[in-house]
Amino acid sequence: MFCIVSPRKSWLERCWKDIILIERSELTSGSSWHAAGGFHTLNGDPNVAKLQAYTVGLYKELEELSGQSCSLHLTGGVMMADSSERMDFLRMTHARGRCLGMETELITPSEAKAMFPLMDESHFVGALWDPVEGHLDPSGTTHAYAKAAQVLGAEIELRNPVLEITQDTDGMWNVVTKNGTIKTEHVVNAGGLWAREVGRMVGLELPLLAMEHMYLLTDDMPEVTEFNSETGRELVGVIDFKGEIYTRQERNGLLLGTYEKACKPWSPINTPWDFGHELLQPDLDRITPSLEVGFKHFPAFEKAGIKQIINGPFTFAPDGNPLIGPVPGLTNYWSACAVMAGFSQGGGVGLALANWMVDGDPGFDVFAMDVSRFGEWATIKYTNAKVRENYSRRFSISFPNEELPAARPQQTTPLYDIMLNENFAVMGDTWGLETPLWFAPSKKEAHDVLSFHRSNDFNHVAAEVEAVRNSVGVTEISNFAKYEVSGADAEAFLNYLMTNNMPKLGSIILTPMLNENGKLIGDFTIAKASENRFLIFGSLSATKYHMRWFEKHSKFYKSLKIKRFDMTLHGLSIAGPNSRKVLQKLVDEDISNSRFQFMSFREMDVNGAPCMINRLSYSGDLGYEIWMAPEYQRKVYRGIKKQGAEFNIKDFGMRALLSMRLEKNFPSWFAELRPIYGPYESRMERFIKINKSKFIGQKAAKQELLDGPKISRTSFIINADTSDVSGDEPIWAKTEKVYNFIDPPHKHGAKRFNSKGNELSSSNSQQDGKWKVVGWVTSGGYAHSIKASMAQGYIPTDLSQITQKGLFEIEILGKRYPCQIMDNPPFDPLGKCMKS
Ligand SMILES: Cc1cc2nc3c(=O)[nH]c(=O)nc-3n(C[C@H](O)[C@H](O)[C@H](O)COP(=O)(O)OP(=O)(O)OC[C@H]3O[C@@H](n4cnc5c(N)ncnc54)[C@H](O)[C@@H]3O)c2cc1C
Repeated sequence: MFCIVSPRKSWLERCWKDIILIERSELTSGSSWHAAGGFHTLNGDPNVAKLQAYTVGLYKELEELSGQSCSLHLTGGVMMADSSERMDFLRMTHARGRCLGMETELITPSEAKAMFPLMDESHFVGALWDPVEGHLDPSGTTHAYAKAAQVLGAEIELRNPVLEITQDTDGMWNVVTKNGTIKTEHVVNAGGLWAREVGRMVGLELPLLAMEHMYLLTDDMPEVTEFNSETGRELVGVIDFKGEIYTRQERNGLLLGTYEKACKPWSPINTPWDFGHELLQPDLDRITPSLEVGFKHFPAFEKAGIKQIINGPFTFAPDGNPLIGPVPGLTNYWSACAVMAGFSQGGGVGLALANWMVDGDPGFDVFAMDVSRFGEWATIKYTNAKVRENYSRRFSISFPNEELPAARPQQTTPLYDIMLNENFAVMGDTWGLETPLWFAPSKKEAHDVLSFHRSNDFNHVAAEVEAVRNSVGVTEISNFAKYEVSGADAEAFLNYLMTNNMPKLGSIILTPMLNENGKLIGDFTIAKASENRFLIFGSLSATKYHMRWFEKHSKFYKSLKIKRFDMTLHGLSIAGPNSRKVLQKLVDEDISNSRFQFMSFREMDVNGAPCMINRLSYSGDLGYEIWMAPEYQRKVYRGIKKQGAEFNIKDFGMRALLSMRLEKNFPSWFAELRPIYGPYESRMERFIKINKSKFIGQKAAKQELLDGPKISRTSFIINADTSDVSGDEPIWAKTEKVYNFIDPPHKHGAKRFNSKGNELSSSNSQQDGKWKVVGWVTSGGYAHSIKASMAQGYIPTDLSQITQKGLFEIEILGKRYPCQIMDNPPFDPLGKCMKS
């Protein structure tokens, strides 16, 4: 049990002090004691990168507060590319880092060799220098955290295992330990290797698994001491993706670890309680393929003697990110588990958790780490397959069009076999559910060619878009979250949670949902189906995240029922100018425009199956979303295809839908709409009834309106060539003005150096003459019907109205392309298609 309270100075006045850390053995008794102690800031998710930057910056403060050294070595590190694809990946990483104020640098293999002369640079084509990388002493750092917590008032009880956890009817927890029972309001499960067991004490099966991990320590190497004495510097850290190797200096030798393909879970179901400060049996055969590459790439390593091989277990969630936050369905039971890179992430995890416990909100966008991001489908077997996949791919390239195969298919709809075998769909995974992405002309062609550039799906997605824009298309939309909120208090409840007024009977509204800080935590379509009964559609991946919020606030309402449909309600969407004609042939009622208007809801039979229909489409065309029980989905689908044949109806997938929403400037949840943006920043003002009855976040939203949003969601058309944006690319502007909204990371950290060893004073990566990084891309792609590359992103509001050419550029894979703001949607700016 562990409650980590951040020692950030501003916290001293307000942090909780009545906290006890209960440790079954000694501090560091789980994974921590044998960790390699490496840390870094870079992460595929910029929000996680920010928390990692916070962690790295915290160490100095931690040392001051605790008086305990962490033995920090901020050496910096290089990532080595051995292929053009890997170089594209590094260019993308470098560009993304600009938005975070990171000072990474693309360098040549020879420049990398100057910092790590033990490498044979002929194996590489380029490298990325990151100044904020290094290593520390895991034991010293753990004790520094513990001492800092004690300084701030926390107690620590060692050698006292927690045996049982129960909850009283008043919500108080009883933590039964060897030394007695502790009554507490909150419990934090930070059980590391035993997190699953501690979860099971309250009936929780956390999706995490420990993996064996090996690293080697060499004897002293003359090459290392020579470099140290010649330069006065330590060797930098190196990641060699090809060999799946990380290496760095350890004393006068090297430490070399691998994330090998032939990885091995440890104790897949239960962690033995008697596992302590012992190491696992090394298995050199498993890492031999990596070592063979290592010997070639770092020849001196082959000659070095091996002093010790460490093999120890540490835990991973299916996607490799931690599981933190309030556990859905439990009151005041918190998770701080599956922290696989504790020395990069521990401080950030602690800060987010402390904010969440004290303020009710993590204070950042931590969805990538939120314990609520996995559904019930993340079973033990699923987790096992995904964790192994994640571990073995740690140093693999992630392509923007890549769908990972492990544990699939986990959930399918009744159309799955039709989509695969008749329609040759290429499927994607949305929250454990198989969803058609695009359709190939034959089974043989039904796969993605992985690339950072436009790929083999391009022409097929274009054809799907063309069919919708010119006639009609059908797509499966079961990958939405669907809820029913009913009861006499339903309307009042929804009005309190949502920013928009609730719809009239038979109508639909779109509405954001805000947290108390006025930040976006949801975006929904709500239909009033009958008196006291509302249907809500949102993001499937946020189902548990949203349910946790709904349940938290529902307890103040007596007559209220919230139902999650999940896979008991499936959906199909038909869209395009001929969609009404197709649907009319399948229903008995008159669905002409005047009888079934835009943004209306109806329940009616479709092809003889009971359905609920929303008249709207995310494609921005005339369209209908049709919802039915799974047993009717094939019947409705077959009916649509049959009646659509005369209009050459075409199946379209998620990629076509997302392409079409771009040219309508529609935002999407998790990209443009996230908990770091306010409602006016995201240009959702049409859906904010700021003066309606009280709603959560109203005060903060009013303030945002009063002050004026500092940044604004903006759409761009880009003069791109063979690649489109995939998210997090920097947006450049030619401007004299200095914008400080990009928070430079590591501002609390130690000094940073460029690859030549010169100290960095300011944010060099964000400026190039008159051009400055002024924002970041949230999503984008190719808009097929207007035949242009598009992006959405956030830039300062005063720049967001400048539609003049020549003032903006977006950096894709290291190259900057001119782009222009598109204030009005390029497709059907007045929305006539949707409405008529
Ligand atoms: C070989 C190896 C190399 C690594 N290298 C790195 C690296 O370079 N950089 C990096 O950032 N990370 C690295 N890691 C991962 C790192 O060790 C973990 O991220 C980190 O240790 C997780 O810390 P934790 O506190 O969450 O879990 P743990 O260290 O497992 O701690 C959990 C604690 O909870 C206690 N506990 C559990 N159940 C109970 C109970 N019922 N009652 C009381 N106490 C209980 C345990 O005794 C234990 O002390 C490495 C791991 C290994 C194995």
